[in-house]
Amino acid sequence: MNFDVVVVGGGIQGVGVAQAAAAAGYSVLLLEKQSLAAATSQQSSKLIHGGLRYLESMQFSLVRESLKERALLLELAPDLVHRVDMHIPVYRTSVRSSPKIGLGLWLYRLLAGFDDDSEFTRLHRSSWADLDGLRTEDLVSVYRYREAQTDDQALTQAVWASAESLGAELLMPAEFVGAECFPSGCDIRYLQNGEERTVEASVLVNCAGPWGNSIIERVSPQSPMPKVELVQGAHLLLPQQIHHHFYLESPSDQRAIFALPWKNQLLLGTTETPHHGDPGMPRCLPEEREYLLATLQHYFPELVIEDSSITDFAGLRVLPKTEGSAFGRSREVVLQADNADQLRLLSVMGGKLTTYRATAEQVVDKLRPSLPSRRPVANTAKLPLTPA
Ligand SMILES: Cc1cc2nc3c(=O)[nH]c(=O)nc-3n(C[C@H](O)[C@H](O)[C@H](O)COP(=O)(O)OP(=O)(O)OC[C@H]3O[C@@H](n4cnc5c(N)ncnc54)[C@H](O)[C@@H]3O)c2cc1C
Repeated sequence: MNFDVVVVGGGIQGVGVAQAAAAAGYSVLLLEKQSLAAATSQQSSKLIHGGLRYLESMQFSLVRESLKERALLLELAPDLVHRVDMHIPVYRTSVRSSPKIGLGLWLYRLLAGFDDDSEFTRLHRSSWADLDGLRTEDLVSVYRYREAQTDDQALTQAVWASAESLGAELLMPAEFVGAECFPSGCDIRYLQNGEERTVEASVLVNCAGPWGNSIIERVSPQSPMPKVELVQGAHLLLPQQIHHHFYLESPSDQRAIFALPWKNQLLLGTTETPHHGDPGMPRCLPEEREYLLATLQHYFPELVIEDSSITDFAGLRVLPKTEGSAFGRSREVVLQADNADQLRLLSVMGGKLTTYRATAEQVVDKLRPSLPSRRPVANTAKLPLTPA
């Protein structure tokens, strides 16, 4: 077998790259060892968002790109991505004051190009009583603004269906085990049904998410490892008692926590806990559960929470390794090539569910000089996405 592009990993980044490469006219094979969206891409907060909080860490270009992609996905995938009204309550004790939130929302609106979805309001105090029992003591204001929500796994499957309709092929379960790269291309080895097989490709794209570094280690000649680390984010799912979407400030460490109705449940998250060890084993820790429930109870003191009715899940962010807390760390995707002049291996690390399409287009632009010339067959910015 011989392909222009072989992609490892069927999360949102892998299917996004498969779709964009197939749309650009290349032959594509995707290798996935478990199932589509088996890992981080079904463990997210399910938001298609600009990322209001990234304004605090001055990640303006990421926010602008995310808002642009949000607008596009609302148009291309109306059955998978829908608008929600998000509420931010501000208290006398909140670290982010009411003027600061107002300014942030105005900047968000500016970066969205003043589109209809960027409008926001400050609710009149007469409507506070309708907000699911939100604590009103010391409440100064409640802002309402627009975001979008999705089913991350269904979105990943829909992007794959689009890639497949453009001719991309999938081997699953098929586990990448190693590759030898030469100036002319790569010989790639994978395991399928217990047997080792090989495939040739002009370029290899590593979209293995938390396993990304272990893929690079198995490619010769050895290329430099991106400096990244794994940070766990846990979520709780509770019976739905809240009908509005909230963006809350944790009273213990002031991090932003989402409380979101999702599929008739309440999705509460998330945390930032350094993860060491097997990327296949992220688990919500007792202290993460306690931290999330304490935030919920702080804002909704009347809620009755039964421990036995709570389920949880956890996923791993791939973040650039720097000093300081994970909360303020860049969420920009890291694209690392083995060799800038003659690329054979490109690794896609981290990034956002929201910006998968823009990332994939960037990846294809980087691959193009190492690939044979082909005629584009479609434009990903115009391809509708429907539930698979
Ligand atoms: C807690 C949390 C909340 C988040 N919330 C949001 C949000 O609300 N909105 C947003 O936009 N973004 C969010 N993100 C970011 C987003 O979810 C991730 O950036 C994205 O899902 C990463 O996708 P990926 O394809 O890189 O990795 P993954 O989804 O982890 O996919 C990697 C795939 O590679 C496969 N694989 C690994 N090794 C091999 C191998 N040897 N052979 C074959 N296959 C292999 C795995 O099985 C897996 O399917 C969140 C992230 C986290 C952790």
